Amino acid sequence: MPNTIVVGLQWGDEGKAKILDDLVQEAKQANDKKIWVVRFQGGPNAGHTNYILMPDGRLVKFVSHAAPIGVTSNSEIGIGPNVAFDPEKFIKEVEEARKLFGYNAGIHISERTGILFDYHRKLDAWQESLRTGNLKIGTTVSGIGPFYMDNANRATRITFAEYVSDNFHDTLAKVLEQKSHELVAARIPGLVTGKYLDTLIATHDPIRKELKECACELEYILREALEKGENIILEGAQGSMLDIDMGTKPTQTSSHLLATDPLAGLGLPRSAFRIYGVEKLYPTRVGEGVMPTLAEDNFGIETQKNAGEVGASTGRDRRVGYPDWVIIKYTAMLNDIDGIYLTRVDNVQDRDIKVCTAYEVNGKRTERVPSKLETATPIYSDKIYSWHLWDGPADLSKPEEVDKALHDKRADYVKEGSGSLPKSLKEYIIDHENYIKKPIIGMSIGPARGEIVKL
Ligand code: GDP
Repeated sequence: MPNTIVVGLQWGDEGKAKILDDLVQEAKQANDKKIWVVRFQGGPNAGHTNYILMPDGRLVKFVSHAAPIGVTSNSEIGIGPNVAFDPEKFIKEVEEARKLFGYNAGIHISERTGILFDYHRKLDAWQESLRTGNLKIGTTVSGIGPFYMDNANRATRITFAEYVSDNFHDTLAKVLEQKSHELVAARIPGLVTGKYLDTLIATHDPIRKELKECACELEYILREALEKGENIILEGAQGSMLDIDMGTKPTQTSSHLLATDPLAGLGLPRSAFRIYGVEKLYPTRVGEGVMPTLAEDNFGIETQKNAGEVGASTGRDRRVGYPDWVIIKYTAMLNDIDGIYLTRVDNVQDRDIKVCTAYEVNGKRTERVPSKLETATPIYSDKIYSWHLWDGPADLSKPEEVDKALHDKRADYVKEGSGSLPKSLKEYIIDHENYIKKPIIGMSIGPARGEIVKL
């Protein structure tokens, strides 16, 4: 069982949580050593949704924003130094996982991790209200931009070590003072009278007490785990096209999302990891921002509706596009990936699928992603793919409702393997591999644990 890093190859929501969970299950079968699932960037702006089949046969939905997906499988969980750590959300999610899945494994939070506070959310909303025209970002208002500004500003970063220390009240008061001009401009109620500080303290003191034991030197702990041959799974959030440097300004996110980031932040060697990219068969984008293959036709409308493409953090509809292999080739390169998991293959059955294999940029054909993505017009290959997996409901937007009807059909494909897949889907896989030059190693055909055809 190799150690793995899992990243999204598009604009997020690719189905990473399900693949991460599958890797945990594989590790459990491979050996009885500890399994570590470590979140390495981003914050509660990202939302993972997982469907877990419970022992009583119910399919239960679990959404996590702050807790690594290992809480659904009783793995050791870790929070890396580049995460925007929201303790309020984290503690609620861990609590829910305790109730649902009996979670009781170790929690390891890097002493270096920065803390996201309520004022980051309020500043986020205020800053977004000032933005006009094409500078509007469409943020999730979870405080991410202001958090990473504080982090980079150094003196206004509050680390997890400071958060759980006895000096926390004093540290927080000093940071609020340093930020006072900005906070006053954002009109935070109770700020001037000091009530705001008291409210923050009242919210965080019980959480600090509960999480104090979790503070650790994560880089040393993981290195020891590596040396003991334990299973380390590094959990990416969002998608590579939202990376602070490689995404499209200003609608990218504020952190580094590529697979090289946790290696640096956690002091881990590339040679000890396999890097897997998760690709949703069709790209989606929530909020503002360009997506060259945006499908405003029936393909986009129907897929959005029937696949339930609604943001886990915001409840906003996600815009759907046709497969864009130019983007995948690019993000596969940026992440140095070893293999691809393709997800949501079932959500497009019976549709005509065209694939973007080049762009026109300034009148010229190219297979490269320009830094100004809005200058790219997609060029589609002539081939149209269409597959039929099973007879059944077209609307898959509420997985709990269709699970009974489709469970066995999905299980049959998993059991029979890739040979049993429809011809057009097999062709899609071959053409994809020839274009991207990286293997598809698994194909997800349903939302629940285990519904992956291994290739
Ligand atoms: P993440 O942030 O990348 O983990 O992705 P999200 O949590 O936003 O979305 C993934 C959603 O897609 C979850 O509800 C999954 O259960 C679901 N999902 C993942 N793979 C498949 C699949 O192959 N088919 C179907 N129907 N749903 C899937």
